[in-house]
Formats: sequence, structure tokens, C-alpha cells
Amino acid sequence: MDEGDLRLKLAVQKSGRLTDPSLDLLTRCGLKLSRGKDQLMGYGENMPLDVLFVRDDDIPDLVQEDVCDLGLVGMNVIEEKRLELAARGHRARFEVVRTLDFGRCRLSLAVPEGTSYEGPSSLRGKRIATTYPYLLEKFLRERDVQAEIVTLSGAVEIAPRLGRADLICDLVSTGSTLQANHLREVETVLESHAVLIRTPVELPPQKDEWVQRLLMRIEGVQQVRESKYIMLHAPRAALPEIRRLLPGSESPTIIPLEGFPDKVAVHAVCRENVFWETLESLKKAGASAMLVLPVEKMLA
Ligand code: ATP
Ligand code: ZN
Repeated sequence: MDEGDLRLKLAVQKSGRLTDPSLDLLTRCGLKLSRGKDQLMGYGENMPLDVLFVRDDDIPDLVQEDVCDLGLVGMNVIEEKRLELAARGHRARFEVVRTLDFGRCRLSLAVPEGTSYEGPSSLRGKRIATTYPYLLEKFLRERDVQAEIVTLSGAVEIAPRLGRADLICDLVSTGSTLQANHLREVETVLESHAVLIRTPVELPPQKDEWVQRLLMRIEGVQQVRESKYIMLHAPRAALPEIRRLLPGSESPTIIPLEGFPDKVAVHAVCRENVFWETLESLKKAGASAMLVLPVEKMLA
């Protein structure tokens, strides 16, 4: 086995909504990448991990065909692929190993403004444009609705205006694209977010160890993203109320304050963001000298 075989290959979207958050996650996991001249590969300088930049739709196949060991991709792409494979009598050969906190969106049905919608039965006999024919077919089948699926490769949101469809089934995050196209979201087909997938093939121990390390680091990165370290002074008597107010903290450290027998210092990790409102409530409960710090790394 040559040296190259012991390097992990991870597929990442080349250019799109998942690119920046994926690279940001890898950076936070400590990876330093140098991009090759062709821009198709990134070489890990300080980890035996290389990144392959590809179209997101190709990521499940690259992983199940063992070209890549890992991939960062949307659940929507994964679920569509699973159904497509099942329709051909195959089973997906990739495993979802971690849910990630980016790429949040939903696959939704949207009708042109001014069109009425009274539940799935309104879809009967309609033409629905989508790039997700398998997920849409499953949604319709489960509701016992017959409709025509118009499979497009992109620009789904303009299909109704072009007269190619009556409504659409497309990815939505804020809804601004729908609004700009005078469409109204009426039904959610799938909630989605990015995931890390891996090959089910057993990896050599050196590679597997790096997969485990990467998973642990991802866990740590995701935990600290929202976490804050809070320090404050409080009257002993106010401790129960203050503990109740600290968002998502398990067991705060209570430290005596020299010369103030009735007061303590409280240090706690909050697993949620700490907002001004929380600080104001803490102050009302008797807290003073409050300090909120970002958490950089965390390892259980
Ligand atoms: P590619 O050229 O790689 O095929 P694409 O046009 O299919 O790119 P993008 O629009 O960049 O893909 O979206 C990539 C993924 O980002 C989606 O599959 C989905 O998981 C996620 N995503 C998050 N929010 C949205 C959104 N509002 N619209 C589309 N995708 C979104
Ligand atoms: Zn795509």
C-alpha cells in the first residue's frame, strides 16, 4: 500500500451554498488545506486528509463507489439518492455518520400567489416542477394523490411562469426566492441540513483513526459554536434563581469570594447563546460583575 492510500479523501461541494460552511468546519477542525493548481483538490498540510471539490449531486456516488471515504452533503441529496437507488432495486452504500449544523433548508411545495391550496388533495392532476422527482413521488404516493411530476435540472422557480408547471417543489431557506417569483410555500416535503457521510467499507486502522479524530473534532466544533463561558458575582441566597436563569448550563462552578461571606463567584459554560435579556434577568436576580466570553475549544 503506498502513502496515498492512507490519506483520507473527503468530497466537498465545489461551488455553492455548502462550500464555505464546509471549509469553515474543516478549518475549525484544525485542517490546513493547500489548493492544487487545478482547484479540484485540496491537500491537507497537517492531516492525512485531502479534499475533492465536486458537484454536490455527485457526492453520494463518489462515497459509495469508494472514490472518496467521506463526503459533506445535504440530507435532501442523500434522501433523493436513496429513493433513486431503491427504485432500481439497489441499496445505498453510504452511511450518514454525523448531522451538521449548517445547510438548513426544506424541500417545499409552492403555488403561484393567488392560487388556492386546501391540502394535498389540491395537487390532484396538477403538474409539479422539481429537481427532486423521487422525494416528490414518495410524498404524493403516501398521500394517495395522482399528479404529474415535471423533472427539471434547475430554474424550477420560473417553471410556472413559463407555463411548464402549475406549481413547484423546491428547496427553500428564507423564502425570499419564492417571494421574488410570486410563489407561496404551502407544504413541507422534507426538512434538511448538511450531513457527513462515509463509506461502509472497512478502512485501514490508520485511516479509521483519523475518521474518529475528525468526528470528535466536529463534535467539539459544533458544541462550542453556540456556547459561551459566563462569569458573575452573586449573593449566595440568589444562587437557585441564578442557576435557573443560566441557559443550558449543567453544573456551574461556585467559588467563594475573599472577604464577602454572603457572595460567591459563578462560572458556567452555557450551551446556548447568552442574550442581553438573560443578563438583565440575572442582574435583577442579584448578579453583578457579569462577563460573557466565547468558547474556543471543548473536549469532553
Ligand atoms: P451544484 O453545482 O453543486 O450541483 P446546486 O445548485 O445543486 O450546486 P446549491 O444551490 O449550492 O446546489 O445548494 C447546495 C445544497 O445547499 C442543497 O442541496 C441544500 O442541501 C443546501 N441548501 C440550503 N439552503 C438552500 C436553499 N435555500 N436553496 C437551495 N439549497 C439550499
Ligand atoms: Zn446540485
